Amino acid sequence: MIQTWIAEGRIEIDQARLLTLYAAWLMDNVGNKAARTEISAIKVVAPNVALRVIDNAIQAHGGGGVSDDFPLAAMYAGIRTLRIADGPDEVHRMVIARRELRRYAESGADAWASSGAWLMGAGPRAADPARRLGRESVLRVVSRYWPATGCTPPAAPTFPTHPR
Ligand SMILES: Cc1cc2nc3c(=O)[nH]c(=O)nc-3n(C[C@H](O)[C@H](O)[C@H](O)COP(=O)(O)OP(=O)(O)OC[C@H]3O[C@@H](n4cnc5c(N)ncnc54)[C@H](O)[C@@H]3O)c2cc1C
Repeated sequence: MIQTWIAEGRIEIDQARLLTLYAAWLMDNVGNKAARTEISAIKVVAPNVALRVIDNAIQAHGGGGVSDDFPLAAMYAGIRTLRIADGPDEVHRMVIARRELRRYAESGADAWASSGAWLMGAGPRAADPARRLGRESVLRVVSRYWPATGCTPPAAPTFPTHPR
């Protein structure tokens, strides 16, 4: 159990660090406005990851974890303020969700979604190289199993990719 907590902590800390580096890279290279989703994301992710890691450390230490013998309880209280002080999580999530929905509205994604073209790998982020591998895997599965469904396959995607 404690090894699981340690492993999860390692994974989540690295995920948070990479997302933070990505947000910083976007701010430097594309600008703060274009990086607003990622800026809001790291403000949600980093304190929540820190809280989960500290919480597991408290649990691993048992009663000692909530005593003044260890700094863990004080660390938890200190980090907990960050889910409010730099704007509540809910507000950051709202910013992210609104920007996601706006991006899809502007890109004609309604038509894209109802056309079934999403299965063909079109869509607002189709040009993102990081998504290419996933898309190719989906296409492989679809082309293998689509005939068995008896449905008409979706038309080849024609929707433009959405700029960041
Ligand atoms: C330790 C600390 C340091 C701070 N430092 C600074 C600082 O340096 N500069 C500064 O300007 N401010 C600072 N603040 C203030 C901080 O920005 C506000 O506390 C924070 O924005 C939340 O506002 P509020 O306390 O009025 O709570 P409220 O706005 O009443 O929010 C209470 C809760 O309501 C919910 N909520 C609020 N708005 C929404 C929404 N739009 N959608 C969904 N749910 C919502 C959330 O769950 C939220 O946690 C600090 C606060 C703390 C605790």
